[in-house]
Amino acid sequence: MTAEIIDGKAFAANLRASIAEDVAAFRDAAGRTPGLAVVLVGDDPASAVYVRNKGRATREAGMESLEHRLPGSAGQDELIALVEQLNADPTVDGILVQLPLPGQIDERAVVAAIDPDKDVDGLTTTNAGRLANNMDGLAPCTPLGCIMLLKDQLGELKGLEAVVIGRSILVGKPMAQLLLAENCTVTIAHSKTRGLADVVRRADIVVAAIGIPHMVKGDWIKPGATVIDVGINRTADGLVGDVDFAAAASHVAAITPVPGGVGPMTIACLLANTLTAAKRREGIA
Ligand code: NDP
Repeated sequence: MTAEIIDGKAFAANLRASIAEDVAAFRDAAGRTPGLAVVLVGDDPASAVYVRNKGRATREAGMESLEHRLPGSAGQDELIALVEQLNADPTVDGILVQLPLPGQIDERAVVAAIDPDKDVDGLTTTNAGRLANNMDGLAPCTPLGCIMLLKDQLGELKGLEAVVIGRSILVGKPMAQLLLAENCTVTIAHSKTRGLADVVRRADIVVAAIGIPHMVKGDWIKPGATVIDVGINRTADGLVGDVDFAAAASHVAAITPVPGGVGPMTIACLLANTLTAAKRREGIA
């Protein structure tokens, strides 16, 4: 194996430590603690674990974690009323509604109710529009983490060919926007793309956000490319990514492992977004 393994876990730990320092400085300047409100509807065990982990990471960074739980039978109006209450609460800087929501609730209506300046998941159309227009906003946490890893690994991204596989609102589309903002030449591939292997072969940077274990084969990837594997797939062999890691690692320059690559960056970027939102609300640069 020749590839450098990109250690997202270590990068995320450093980022969290530096956020904790910035949180202390924020407290001195603003006289209050940044607050992240997380809303969990129902008792889906995976969601409960995510919410618990987010709460712990928030507290470890010195921020306030406010958890709100609603029963799985909660109605859309009840949830939107809670979101509006959090919008109006001056101690809340970030609002995260844990998805997926129970079937009776329209996720888009709930996300649309979140104040875009507190939308630390970056899911509102306002923040998508800001991202597309190079305006200050809040970008979704996972692609934000990916771009940080890429800039750390490669430095200047200008002019590089980037292929993003996947076009979800959560990952693929904002990833493409962030790469474009770094002056990459960006291609977005998806399930209807023809000749995907040849499209991927052009790339200096491959970002795979598909959700199919080991779909991206080693020989699709140009020697010397940098690979960011966003996929988290549970298989009989444990957690695996969307890229055939062993085959790619023999000739790429660098690749994120699964687990231990992009995953840890997502929570760290949630904390980063919460601090960014808090600073903007207080007018702190
Ligand atoms: P979605 O299911 O919303 O999107 C998947 C995308 O992959 C779609 O755009 C789809 O295309 C595309 N796709 C599906 N099949 C193919 C195919 N055969 N060829 C090319 N493209 C294909 O998933 P997400 O974006 O939410 O997540 C993607 C992966 O990333 C998942 O494994 C998820 O678990 C993981 N993830 C990891 C996170 C982390 O913290 N590391 C955070 C978020 C997600 P089309 O639009 O045409 O249907």
